[in-house]
Amino acid sequence: MTDESNNEEIKIVEEYVEGYWKCPNCNAKCRGSEQTCDNCGAIRGENVEFFVEDNAPVITDEAELEKAKAGPDWICKFCGNTSPSSSPKCTGCGSLRTDGKNRQVKEIKTEPEPSGGDEPPKPMPTGMKIGCSIFAILMLILMALSCQQKPGQLEVLSTSWTRSIEREQFKTVRESAWQNEVPSGAREISRNREIRKYNEIPDGFEEVDESYTEKVKTGEKKVEDGKVNLGNGRFKVKYKMVPEYKEVTRTRRVKKQKYRKEPVYDNKITYDIEKWIAIEKVTASGSDDEPKWPDSKASAKSPPQIGDIREGVKAEDYRVKAKRVSDGKEYDIKELGGKSLTFEQFMKLRKGSKWDAIFSGLGGLNEIKFTKP
Ligand SMILES: [Zn+2]
Ligand SMILES: [Zn+2]
Repeated sequence: MTDESNNEEIKIVEEYVEGYWKCPNCNAKCRGSEQTCDNCGAIRGENVEFFVEDNAPVITDEAELEKAKAGPDWICKFCGNTSPSSSPKCTGCGSLRTDGKNRQVKEIKTEPEPSGGDEPPKPMPTGMKIGCSIFAILMLILMALSCQQKPGQLEVLSTSWTRSIEREQFKTVRESAWQNEVPSGAREISRNREIRKYNEIPDGFEEVDESYTEKVKTGEKKVEDGKVNLGNGRFKVKYKMVPEYKEVTRTRRVKKQKYRKEPVYDNKITYDIEKWIAIEKVTASGSDDEPKWPDSKASAKSPPQIGDIREGVKAEDYRVKAKRVSDGKEYDIKELGGKSLTFEQFMKLRKGSKWDAIFSGLGGLNEIKFTKP
């Protein structure tokens, strides 16, 4: 989605509304434009604060607007009364303005709306807390046990091994390929004309409907952006006019290039060729005896003859079954310290032999002491 809405300048609208003040003498709520209290006649002194109510009616009358924009009231230094800036004499005692000071004009910032959803995280229920603690303690015990080193003795019960060799045989195979891709050494058997690919040839235009989306302005949202206490019982309210949009899907007629497919022919060659082809691997296995490699029947000559066999990847797997002498606990050993048993290790672990070993607190086999003291 594009974000053009942010680039558009946001209009600012200003409105004037009348405020109120509270009589310091009798507590009555008085209109901002009144110089004295309607109820008790007390003057609107220097320390009286103006306030504004939400949704206060907007001043539209020209003469009233004029007064709102005229500037702050001034405070008489003789009687403390406040008079409109248009008045050269105090409306309370009639003294001349001379150097009577002005009421303050104050900017009032609008608090940004709370975004919501920022709730503080809920505390964990007590039951869950206890559960977590028990789990943590168990984990610690398990860790301590597995780190523990317990010496013991191991007796080998039986051994087994498997060895295998992957193989390839030099054979004649029949294949086919495009003329320019036939490998060297191939003997052509036959050739055939076939479609190798299609070329796309421009073939006029057609008109098609294409849908597209457009951002349409649906209106404006009036968002308050601060107030000004004008110091004369009126307030200026500032609004941002934030534009609102919606996405509209429309269709339009567009010209589109048409193509037709044109076949491209080429020679497909069928040929015979000699290649090394994977054949069944050979495997040997045994138990309680010495491992041997199986016979791969490899016979590769140089250059290779048809029917020759060559060896590929060799694999060996050694396993030992043993028991702990102290309690008879059995172990299937395929690896030691994370590494597969080597041929040398396997050859030492003969059936019936006994070895000093290190066990973990949990009973796992950590190490076999191959070098006897
Ligand atoms: Zn009053
Ligand atoms: Zn006065």
